[in-house]
Amino acid sequence: MSAPTVDLGKLHGGLRLQAYKVESTAAPVVDAPVPPLLILPLIQHTGSAAQPIVKIGQHVLGGELLATHDGALGAAIHASSSGSVIAIEPRPVSRMQGDMMPCIIIATDGKDEFQDATKFRHEPSDLAAADIFKKISEGGIVGLGGAVYPTAAKLRQAKNGPLQHLILNGVECEPYISCDDMLMQAQASDIVGGAKILLHALQINSCFIVIESDKPRAHKQLALAIKESGDERLVLKQVPTIYPSGAEDQLVQLVTGREVPSGELPTDVGCLVQNVGTAAAVERWIRHGEPLTSRITTISGDGVRSPLNVRARLGTPVADLIGCAGGYSERAKRLIIGGAMTGKAMSTDAIPLVKATNCILVLSDNGGAGDELPCIRCGDCADVCPVQLLPQQLHWYGIAENENQLRKHGLIDCIECGCCDFVCPSHIPLTGQFRHFKSELRELEYERARAARSQQRFDARSTRLRLEKLERERDLTAQKDVARNVGADAIRAILERSEKKSRPDKSSGEE
Ligand code: SF4
Ligand code: SF4
Repeated sequence: MSAPTVDLGKLHGGLRLQAYKVESTAAPVVDAPVPPLLILPLIQHTGSAAQPIVKIGQHVLGGELLATHDGALGAAIHASSSGSVIAIEPRPVSRMQGDMMPCIIIATDGKDEFQDATKFRHEPSDLAAADIFKKISEGGIVGLGGAVYPTAAKLRQAKNGPLQHLILNGVECEPYISCDDMLMQAQASDIVGGAKILLHALQINSCFIVIESDKPRAHKQLALAIKESGDERLVLKQVPTIYPSGAEDQLVQLVTGREVPSGELPTDVGCLVQNVGTAAAVERWIRHGEPLTSRITTISGDGVRSPLNVRARLGTPVADLIGCAGGYSERAKRLIIGGAMTGKAMSTDAIPLVKATNCILVLSDNGGAGDELPCIRCGDCADVCPVQLLPQQLHWYGIAENENQLRKHGLIDCIECGCCDFVCPSHIPLTGQFRHFKSELRELEYERARAARSQQRFDARSTRLRLEKLERERDLTAQKDVARNVGADAIRAILERSEKKSRPDKSSGEE
């Protein structure tokens, strides 16, 4: 990668990185073949696992609902081709870096038959906002930029706030990844259609579709689609190609000049950010009746023979997709899911393509930047941090397990972009450390919340027992009173009876 430079534009820090996208964008998107086996994890999203509604041996059509969610944060899962459900069992998945997670396994029948989509099509203007949110949830749609947050939940939350702008994120600033660029070129009208549906559901009148300055073909297609739509609420905006300008908070600042305060969300400053792929998925489901069963993904790096972008069915094994890129080259050493800056290294290619998989990267180097050395306090990491944190301080406080200082220095605001790692001359794996420290803080918070809940339960139980005891004591006193009264009444009755007996019976007439 080229030497980084500090950006002097609106954003603090960031890096200008070599793109490595020429090869994968040279040809149009290729349709990946239907694989013999589809492996569909029950968690492909933020939230809880989807609940299977199919049985082993059941035949399913493409688009058919396989697993649903119970109203908690989650997303539905649909079959991505026709075939038979042969197992529901744990398989390695990328979310867990190759660890196992329950998956629905479908043996495809080669017919690739899909359910009748006409039953699910709607004219968006006929639907109320609440119906659109419900439909989006039923379509299994999640944020396709990588966060995979259930879209319906994000829209509902946004609608409750002071929302003004929808921002469609086409800023794909991480090296190697080009799936959004190809989507914008091939499906610009779907993105525009999705934007209009989202504006209708959110009941706002402003949408920015944002793209980097180095994507002229995508820009041309989007400009054309916006013009054809005649919708003046849609504005195409270009931003400079600087990593990580596609991160949500940074994008909001670039487009609107609004800064998202620490600990808050873009919606708190009136902006909702959605990936361009998510908007296209909304259009395909609402207007065309196609639930989320496939996505475009980039297969790239010097560890594959022919880098390209493929449209593949969710559940397709990564090993099969590597085949679409001509297979591994002799130099292949490292498999990464995601980009070079934020992706996760995998130990196996038996993992499936999921909703979050925007890139399958195979590199020739082994990932070691060099031996780790002590921090020399050069400050380079702070210069490039887009969140204006002090990574070297976080490094020291993390090692010292100083929770208060980690919080005070904004660890929780770290977006794990990897810029600090990239420039550190001491090769300190800062981002990995911060990810670890953040999960420890979250665990501490969770433990504290759990302890607080236990204490509340204990207090509630003690209060209940005390009240029950008081109640019992009150009952006992009342019973004694009753007994005393009953006893007095009984004695009175006996006395009255005996008095009665001792009096002469006047009715007998005897004197
Ligand atoms: S870049 Fe590395 S060596 Fe320099 S201050 Fe940051 S952590 Fe220390
Ligand atoms: S990984 Fe975190 S600390 Fe490092 S540059 Fe990115 S936001 Fe800043």
